Amino acid sequence: QISVGVLALQGAFQEHIHMLQSIPKVSSILPVRTAEQLRSIDALIIPGGESTTIALVAEHSGIWENLKEFVRQKPTWGTCAGMILLANEANNTKKGGQKLLGGLDIKVNRNQFGSQIDSFESLLHIPQITSSPEDPFPAVFIRAPTISTINSLEVEILAKLGHNVDETDASTVVAVKQGHLLATSFHPELTNDNRIHKYFVEHAINYIVSGQNGKKEISLK
Ligand code: GLN
Repeated sequence: QISVGVLALQGAFQEHIHMLQSIPKVSSILPVRTAEQLRSIDALIIPGGESTTIALVAEHSGIWENLKEFVRQKPTWGTCAGMILLANEANNTKKGGQKLLGGLDIKVNRNQFGSQIDSFESLLHIPQITSSPEDPFPAVFIRAPTISTINSLEVEILAKLGHNVDETDASTVVAVKQGHLLATSFHPELTNDNRIHKYFVEHAINYIVSGQNGKKEISLK
């Protein structure tokens, strides 16, 4: 059993909290706004919203550096804006860009789908999560980022939009994992499907139980 925090500065944090309530292995769920709250949790979800706003609020509230430290050590899942914040690099950021927490050796394209398709739903087969293509995950994309470059072999592609995961083109990668970090460019908390939340909790528990021994440092380029 683990305690899971959801960064609650801006965005869709309430929906994540609601989803976590359906997972028995989660012993407590905490909306996180302070460094003290961050210290009391085992794993963190950074929700969707507006990545620039989340970064600004985090800086102003003084939790930014603590968050940076947390994501380097403990299981963290970023959805949409949360994925942008976990990336080492992002484009389409206003003038000189925004601050990123980093940790994932990827470059993301913000607002990849532009204004033509602000939001859409796509059924994804995610081999580690959905048992078969007949039972896909309903992925909701809202002004979503995609992953344009993967800079380390440690980054594992979990899902691509409209492709098989084994195809090499990275342009439509929408879910990845690297060590203790997980990122999805879509919003599982806006569906009734808790499979990715379950996956994250299982992954976090495994990491906490076994990760301490064989723990690898995340390479930051
Ligand atoms: N486009 C937003 C950003 O750049 C992310 C959108 C979302 O989280 N739904 O932060």
